[in-house]
Amino acid sequence: MTLLPSADVVVVGAGNAALCAALAAADQGASVLVLERAPEAERGGNTRFTAGAIRCAYAGVDDLRALMPDLNAAEIASTDFGTYTEDQFFDDMARVTEYRADPDLTDLLVRRSHPTLLWLRAKGVGFRPIWGRQAFKVGGRFKFWGGLTIEAWGGGPGLVDALFAAAGEQRIEVAYEARALELLADDQGVHGVQVRHGGRTRAVPARAVVLACGGFEANAEWRTRYLGPGWDLAKVRGTRFNTGDGIRMALAIGAMPWGHWSGCHAVGWDRNAPDFGDLAVGDGFQKHSYPFGIMLNANGERFVDEGADFRNYTYAKYGHVILRQPHQFAWQVFDRNVTHLLRDEYRIRQVTKVTADTLEELLAKLEGVNAERALATIRAYNAAVRTDIPFNPNVKDGRRTEGLAIPKSNWAITIDAPPFEAYQVTCGITFTFGGLRITTAGQVIDSDGRPIPGLYAAGELVGGLFYFNYPGGTGLMSGAVFGQLAGAAAGQAARGAA
Ligand SMILES: Cc1cc2nc3c(=O)[nH]c(=O)nc-3n(C[C@H](O)[C@H](O)[C@H](O)COP(=O)(O)OP(=O)(O)OC[C@H]3O[C@@H](n4cnc5c(N)ncnc54)[C@H](O)[C@@H]3O)c2cc1C
Repeated sequence: MTLLPSADVVVVGAGNAALCAALAAADQGASVLVLERAPEAERGGNTRFTAGAIRCAYAGVDDLRALMPDLNAAEIASTDFGTYTEDQFFDDMARVTEYRADPDLTDLLVRRSHPTLLWLRAKGVGFRPIWGRQAFKVGGRFKFWGGLTIEAWGGGPGLVDALFAAAGEQRIEVAYEARALELLADDQGVHGVQVRHGGRTRAVPARAVVLACGGFEANAEWRTRYLGPGWDLAKVRGTRFNTGDGIRMALAIGAMPWGHWSGCHAVGWDRNAPDFGDLAVGDGFQKHSYPFGIMLNANGERFVDEGADFRNYTYAKYGHVILRQPHQFAWQVFDRNVTHLLRDEYRIRQVTKVTADTLEELLAKLEGVNAERALATIRAYNAAVRTDIPFNPNVKDGRRTEGLAIPKSNWAITIDAPPFEAYQVTCGITFTFGGLRITTAGQVIDSDGRPIPGLYAAGELVGGLFYFNYPGGTGLMSGAVFGQLAGAAAGQAARGAA
């Protein structure tokens, strides 16, 4: 086990936010040490589990082509990319967070989204349109919807590999199985971290520290304490290493807790998925095509408007709704009319799925469900569908139910064409929303409202951006934007102090 070198800037964590911070600090001429709690084989945090979908404002195809020069004329001709303006991005953040998102941080997130992806591209990260998951082909043309158009080449693993390659080129040191435990701080600010590495605890001095080591989603005790009873039962979608260390360390030296501490991002996730993420499956345990079917709980009842909005604007809050159902599960039910629309994650080998040629037979196979009540629910649902309104998966089509206590507002299709399919889901937590308060330069703020000299933060552990819900693809964008800002500021501060 090698000795940990001291550095101008120590970055805690090795996911997207941390590596962006490390690269930006190195751009300033600072020496940088990255501390990764995970072993090398599991490096990359939640970032590595993602599909790499990243939300970015663009005014038109030219902005997209700047990020994806490989886009060819035929692809452009066969696709309606539309626009996703800064105003739309800002409005989406405000709307889904019930107007609580910090406006200054949101403004920065939105305005820096495109320039930050250009910066990442220059570092060697590739991008491409998300043809598979975010656009349906109707009338021979793809149409993108829901503000999410770009993904990193190779998904999360590709993004992590590209960031590590860039870090190697910029001579950034990475220490694995190096868990930061405490900040070294005094009245003048932060001067380094206490690290457990190779079975020994030692002090690593630094001129500035960037905390980018995730939220507390993998900590069952903190989940129960802050999110509430029942959250200990959620499955963790990603890394087992994000247990709130960065938040705890900063609070211990007087940082201000900020944001939605009882809130988190959580989705419908295979009922039989392991307790923590499996890198071989990635995000494949998620089941996000519920807008084209219905969801039934153990009582055989629907419990949510599956078609309230595009999945990008509902999936992150529906995990919570599933957790509240009896025995914390639901079955998603589809018929032949929509199975061609189901996302790729429905076709993984490790799936909890049943099929049948009649509804009665299907419902009898739904473990734990009141089949009689479920049949009555589906019949009532079928009778309530406005079949006169045309179905269109690319727009909020208004094809809805009428007269049900729980409506389905879009994409309502009668469930009557065999074969029928059902998929069992429970709640999978992605990341927590509460965390630290930062300035627009990524500096951590103390509980008296003053920046703590030498301490910066980025990524999941920043509070104040997300409340209740989240627009898909914003986690990576926020990590990149605030990682770059925090790293650049830390690098400048460290160089200034040298
Ligand atoms: C299955 C899944 C799919 C997702 N899909 C998407 C998507 O498509 N698009 C999107 O925008 N977002 C997605 N997200 C959310 C996204 O992963 C996160 O928002 C983002 O990756 C967080 O980046 P981060 O750098 O803050 O944290 P992470 O990437 O989780 O990195 C945290 C790092 O800190 C390390 N660490 C923890 N504690 C310590 C410690 N004490 N000392 C040292 N290191 C420590 C961890 O090992 C890890 O390397 C998804 C998440 C999951 C789980």
